[in-house]
Amino acid sequence: MRDANPQTIYLKDYAVPDYLIHHVELNFTLDDENTRVVSRLTMIRNPASQTGDAALVLAGENLGLISVVLNDDNELTEQDYLQTQDSLIIHEVPQHRSFVLTIENTINPKANTALEGLYLSGSMLCTQCEAEGFRKITYFLDRPDVMAKFTTTLVGDKDRYPVLLSNGNKIAQGELADNRHWVTWEDPFNKPCYLFALVAGQLDCIEDSFITLSGRNISLQIFVEKHDLDKCAHAMQSLKNAMRWDEQVYGREYDLDLYMIVAVSHFNMGAMENKGLNVFNTKFVLARPDTATDSDYERIEGVIAHEYFHNWTGNRITCRDWFQLSLKEGFTVFRDQEFTGDRTSKAVNRIENVNMLRTRQFAEDAGPMAHPVRPDAYMEVNNFYTLTVYEKGAEVVRMIHTLLGAEGFRKGSDLYFERHDGQAVTCDDFVNAMEAANAVDLSQFRRWYAQAGTPVLTVQQSYNSSAQTLALTINQHCPPTPGQAVKEPLHIPVTVGLINKDGSIAPCNVQGRKTDEIVLQLTQAEQTFTFTDLKQQPVVSILRGFSAPVKLVMERSLEELAFLLSYDSDTFNRWEAGQQLAGQVIAGLIADIQSGQAMQINPMIVTAFKQVMAQSWDDLSYFSLLLGLPSETYLAEQMQVVDVVAIHKAREFVVLTLAQQLQTQFKTLYLECHKDESGVFDAGAIGRRRIKNMCLAYLGRLEQPDIQQWSQQQFDTAKNMTDQMAALAVVANGTHPAKQECLSRFYQQWQAEALVIDKWFALQASSHNPDTFETVQALMQHPAFDLKNPNRVRALIGAFSQANPLHFHAANGQGYQFLADQIIALNTLNPQVASRMLSALTSWRRYDEGRQALMKAQLERIMTTDAISKDVYEVASKSLA
Ligand SMILES: [Zn+2]
Repeated sequence: MRDANPQTIYLKDYAVPDYLIHHVELNFTLDDENTRVVSRLTMIRNPASQTGDAALVLAGENLGLISVVLNDDNELTEQDYLQTQDSLIIHEVPQHRSFVLTIENTINPKANTALEGLYLSGSMLCTQCEAEGFRKITYFLDRPDVMAKFTTTLVGDKDRYPVLLSNGNKIAQGELADNRHWVTWEDPFNKPCYLFALVAGQLDCIEDSFITLSGRNISLQIFVEKHDLDKCAHAMQSLKNAMRWDEQVYGREYDLDLYMIVAVSHFNMGAMENKGLNVFNTKFVLARPDTATDSDYERIEGVIAHEYFHNWTGNRITCRDWFQLSLKEGFTVFRDQEFTGDRTSKAVNRIENVNMLRTRQFAEDAGPMAHPVRPDAYMEVNNFYTLTVYEKGAEVVRMIHTLLGAEGFRKGSDLYFERHDGQAVTCDDFVNAMEAANAVDLSQFRRWYAQAGTPVLTVQQSYNSSAQTLALTINQHCPPTPGQAVKEPLHIPVTVGLINKDGSIAPCNVQGRKTDEIVLQLTQAEQTFTFTDLKQQPVVSILRGFSAPVKLVMERSLEELAFLLSYDSDTFNRWEAGQQLAGQVIAGLIADIQSGQAMQINPMIVTAFKQVMAQSWDDLSYFSLLLGLPSETYLAEQMQVVDVVAIHKAREFVVLTLAQQLQTQFKTLYLECHKDESGVFDAGAIGRRRIKNMCLAYLGRLEQPDIQQWSQQQFDTAKNMTDQMAALAVVANGTHPAKQECLSRFYQQWQAEALVIDKWFALQASSHNPDTFETVQALMQHPAFDLKNPNRVRALIGAFSQANPLHFHAANGQGYQFLADQIIALNTLNPQVASRMLSALTSWRRYDEGRQALMKAQLERIMTTDAISKDVYEVASKSLA
């Protein structure tokens, strides 16, 4: 049987719901394999509904229906309703007054390996309802614009489920016969069902409290399995930091008296913002210096903040329909990025975010799944939790912030909260509020929400020495994407600064306004901006802070890039100049390889690195980014036809050359920063570790006995996971004699810590070693591997297919066949994860003919899978179209 051909759903077909739900009373009798759900819905016909049909259509999948009762006394028979594969249609319900519908059904959480709805994670029952998981719990109007008050009673065995949690406040509890107990939760806020949550199991918790700006005392609880209690302190502190920040920066206070977070080990996504009861992937909660790296610590703080910020941007104000997903995600990602920048280093945070955007979102924008920030069609909404909706969506909000300034943006967000609290709204409503609060016209800007693809800006400059003017001509163009052949010009903020030849700032004088930096407003296909009063020709620093998510084309010599790397006062552009310089040098080597010549490296890159290393840096994390080279994946993005082997060889050649020629500098810096310290999470210590481990990674390529000793010693004595992992990477990715021994010792040491074992899998799967494919195959058989655990799948299959271009794209196609085998297996177990894994094959048209044919053949094989899921079908069929 096939789930396909799935239907496409269009934004233009949106219609208000025919019925509304005022109140939901849920009663769960919990059991791992047979949970009974009684749902009592108080409903009414929606006066705004335009359809004449009186039937009530409720969504529901994989449910064992027991009974349907209308108004408490009228049990409906099979003549009164129709049960289909994905709905329950009740032919007639009262039209002019409210009515009560009580539905009883059963579900099997243990059989639910898709991890949507109610499922078993380890020994814990938990839910995931966004986007459409609630329909796997009970029949319901499962759409975000139906908002209701929920009262939930959970009944279960006291030993099996000692902790019973749901949204809101606990209002009653009691004991029953047969060793059972019950708890009733009430959420006073209206919410769509995707924000419903339930957790039951043997959990322990750490508690803390937070006093809000207005003096309310909020109780904070983090629930985990007992042996993880010592890994929650950082998550709790992060939550308090986020609560304070949202009060200070957005004036938003928390609204319930209780805020709960639960960490679960089987989770499809990162975390879920259910009202008052966040459910998190353990990866984004648990941290202890010896088990989590500095970047884990940073991500945990970011994700905890992200879900907390959703309480206002997502829960209090939610999306009208799933096409508007970026309304909550784009804005909330922007908020968490700003928070992390404030907490750590703004420069580093911006670079890391842009790096991810340019490497992965730009690829999405250029591939078969390209879609606007507000998509206008989908088959399976789970496929639209994308980098475009999240990361590009955040860039769109950031551009509004740039155009309006911090104060104007705050006025706009205040108005948005005031206008729409308690409503389900659209991206347009958000932009409307920004416009109204600032009396500006953003009508052209709105195209960012509707147009897919990455715009390309081509910049030309001409300096007139007699007039002392500089003219910058900027042309914008956006390549066609599936379904969108022609693009209109966008409204793009382009931040520019000018630098004199001696490194000093040249003022930007445009139309009589003199500033150190200016935001140019590009609105036409081509526009010229003239800067006046320039006695000498300045060096242009353009798209500062990456002021728009675009590709920039501007002729730059290596000398000019080296100058910007030394003098640009914009931290983003300074780093970018170094990346471009390295990119040009690597491109030259790739050309050597492709034409069969010996590689000739341009010595300017060594000089430029030497200069960077000769300066003193306060922000060591930023310093370490300046010493990094563009990734193989990013370099691949820059090529017409991706040549994975040449990219790898060329990049490795640069790494080795830098290691050889700057070895004294790397060694000195390593020894200077290598401190025997436990993993204190503060900027100074993080920076020291980052720079030192960067040096060690370079030096490791030399395969010298003294360096091998250093890395072995760091591995043996490390008191924190950052240092241990960095040393293991150096040991495992070369010819170190203790390679196997260190890998197995690491496994022995950490086998009880699932998240650390994920790192162990990922490290081996992303290795450049020649035997990596065989290692990956062997690891698939390892007792610790589990295809039902998404974190493990991402660590092994995900790391191999998405972070190891050299081996995944092996010319004989073994990597492709391996991935297709896993996708076919996952299609049955967990369609959402299967579809995510598929992304490594979607860009097949970017490769040479041989690889194209091999990748395409695997996509075609996937398409013939029995019972192919909507998730996989949509991505595979669009990739082949
Ligand atoms: Zn989110």
